[in-house]
Amino acid sequence: MEYVSTRGSAPPLDFEGATLAGLASDGGLYVPREWPRFTEAEIAAMAGLPYAELAARVMEPFVGDCLSPERLRELTREAYGRFSHTAVTPLVQLDQRHWLLELFHGPTLAFKDVALQLLGLLFEEFLGRSGRNLTIVGATSGDTGSAAIDAVAGRDNVTIFMLHPKGRVSDVQRRQMTTVLAPNVHNLAIEGSFDDAQAMVKRMFGDTAMTGRFAIGAVNSINWARLMAQVVYYFASALQLGAPRREIAFSVPTGNFGDVFAGYVASQMGLPVARLIVATNVNDILHRAISSGNYSAGTVTATAAPSMDIQVSSNFERLLFDLGGRDGAALAAQMAGFEANKAMQLTNAQREGASALFSSARADAAEMSGAIRWAWENCGELIDPHTACGLHAAVASDLDLAVPIVTLATAHPAKFRDPVERATGNRPALPARIGDLFQREERCSDLLGDYSAVADYVASHATPKA
Ligand SMILES: *Cc1c(COP(=O)(O)O)cnc(C)c1O
Repeated sequence: MEYVSTRGSAPPLDFEGATLAGLASDGGLYVPREWPRFTEAEIAAMAGLPYAELAARVMEPFVGDCLSPERLRELTREAYGRFSHTAVTPLVQLDQRHWLLELFHGPTLAFKDVALQLLGLLFEEFLGRSGRNLTIVGATSGDTGSAAIDAVAGRDNVTIFMLHPKGRVSDVQRRQMTTVLAPNVHNLAIEGSFDDAQAMVKRMFGDTAMTGRFAIGAVNSINWARLMAQVVYYFASALQLGAPRREIAFSVPTGNFGDVFAGYVASQMGLPVARLIVATNVNDILHRAISSGNYSAGTVTATAAPSMDIQVSSNFERLLFDLGGRDGAALAAQMAGFEANKAMQLTNAQREGASALFSSARADAAEMSGAIRWAWENCGELIDPHTACGLHAAVASDLDLAVPIVTLATAHPAKFRDPVERATGNRPALPARIGDLFQREERCSDLLGDYSAVADYVASHATPKA
């Protein structure tokens, strides 16, 4: 399988190249040249497979010749063997039509583990072949940092530098990062906000003094391999509920549009998806874009669902590319307009294409806690504030009653204990597998919020390219 950039001018890459590249050199994102498609009989034959086997089967067409089918299966067994539930992503029934897809049984309690556990293994596999070294630099306001650190800790040929805004992540989130003591993991607590940390990371990707010496890689969802791994749980849950003979709808708590784009990919591959509901909090750029065609960034408001506090959703570009006839030059011009004005209008083709499959809804603070309370009082389930946005949108949807709606449960409620306790009076316990988190030793370097301090730190601790 070949990967092309959404902006049309970067060279096509194979799966290995796209996995290691992150962003394309023309500023676009890599997507497969075409969507592989399964027949109904092929999908039906996947029913009942163990998760790791299903994962290998769904991902095989994307991986192409870069891994043998046997090696791919070994990697999926290793990645998903670390999950605490044997089903990996179990479905829980809430009432006659609503289901929760629990994506938080990985090591750091959020859905990002599903993709990052595999990505860590792919990095090690591909780098080991060529003896290259990768330097991952990222900024986190919470879940990505801990999931990425857990995925690469102790792996060969990779060093990770994760910046977080000092004092502005929760105790659980900080400790999930700083208690990982592997020598290839560097936590940097930066004076300032998440945006300050993120700006320093972006500057480093464009700093030729750094990129000349180090191969700097990305672990956020601009990386295609992450989205590919997320396609699998759409298949797993739909098969459980009767696909391919029955259509299923999904409600997806959305920030950067990565998770819900994986649902779109699943539908392009032949899974009968009745609807994808894009659920946002009050940071609702996607809700406005999908309901009115106007994609315009406002300012970020802090909410109880911080992993969705986002104004610009990088992966939306992948959908616009696909719906706009895959015209890289036209999309590059459209995105340049957005970058200049912080606003753009979707074309008719993009708008009509999106409304054929997607709908959207936003949840404010009261609606989020209302959904947490509803799940607790009616179904005895504690859900986190991100999942609550999804459930709010699912319950409000106007879909035919015969279509089951699966809400993606993106984080464990114990990761966001305060808002859950405020809504229900019930404080979720940390799962046993991370129960000693508050007894573990922490390691973290405090840095001033200036770029040269961060660049100096990375340069003196990273391993040059080759
Ligand atoms: C990252 C995250 C999201 C948003 O996912 P996207 O792929 O960025 O849309 C939702 N919920 C939780 C808990 C997350 O960590």
